[in-house]
Amino acid sequence: MGAEEVAAAEMAEEDKAAFLAKLRKFEGIETAAQTGPDPVNQPMIRHWVEAMGDENPIYVDPAAAAASAHGEVIAPAVMLQAWVMRGLKPRGASGPSPQDTLMDLLDGAGYSSVVATNCEQEYARMLHPGDHLRTRSVLESVSEEKQTGMGIGHFVTTRIEYETTDGEPVAKMLFRILKFKPGTGRGAPPAAAPAPEAEAQKPPRPRPALTVDNAFWFDATKQHKLVIQRCASCKTLRHPPRPRCDKCGSYDWDTLEASGKGTIYSFVVVHFPQVPSFDYPLPIGLIALEEGTRLVANLVGIAPEDVKVGMPVEVEWQDHDEDLTLPAFHLVK
Ligand SMILES: [Zn+2]
Repeated sequence: MGAEEVAAAEMAEEDKAAFLAKLRKFEGIETAAQTGPDPVNQPMIRHWVEAMGDENPIYVDPAAAAASAHGEVIAPAVMLQAWVMRGLKPRGASGPSPQDTLMDLLDGAGYSSVVATNCEQEYARMLHPGDHLRTRSVLESVSEEKQTGMGIGHFVTTRIEYETTDGEPVAKMLFRILKFKPGTGRGAPPAAAPAPEAEAQKPPRPRPALTVDNAFWFDATKQHKLVIQRCASCKTLRHPPRPRCDKCGSYDWDTLEASGKGTIYSFVVVHFPQVPSFDYPLPIGLIALEEGTRLVANLVGIAPEDVKVGMPVEVEWQDHDEDLTLPAFHLVK
């Protein structure tokens, strides 16, 4: 590096430090209280549980709710954010909030993409129709610039307290986003087709997040068996694996070995963001198995532009490495 380049690099570091200092002026700032446009209400709860496929009657049926521990209809706990969302209006009537100003600052510096990375909610009590909520938010922290898989960016953490308009605290939430520069991730597309050596050095496929509840499924795939979790009590099939039967509430389960035949219920062709372990464009199917459950898997042996909903498919096994075997689906000839 010549003296001029060193000077330029130092200047860039200084600019970065100055920019971070500017961002960090927002730490600890409380944004204006925001009140939900509507109180907790039955129509919004009904739409939500329909969209989620949650058939628990305590959300919609006053008689069933009265017979439950809650005594009256409750809103699903995870609807919390929905009650105070400001909707499509980009800015409040009183002008940009400190949060808006911080986002503008990041956008202006090129960190224009956003992804939510953490959401932690704590509930003081269940919400019922008629509860009217408001929030107080504090911008807790802005991280230094970090290189992440998605790109180079800053994490912004906000703490939000939910209370009723009478001042009763009902919940708390920590919400963290990453504001990043698009195209700067570790998976950014290569400038040209990868050389054969690069192909050979392809990183291993990302690991699934194994838990005590789903490990059995991945153990079965290692033996080239596609299994479906089945409630031992009411025999309802379910996938992805989870501890409890949605239908009867039982925690007891066994498995059924699937035939491996099904149809493409839906699909996407992924172009971006690109993870170096995969080839793109990458067709991924939501496969409706003939037993009735669905699963997400790679589609193989078919050009992305030829994939259509309803195509009959069957499983084939891909041994990615000694720890990971996954099902993929090809067209039935
Ligand atoms: Zn069951």
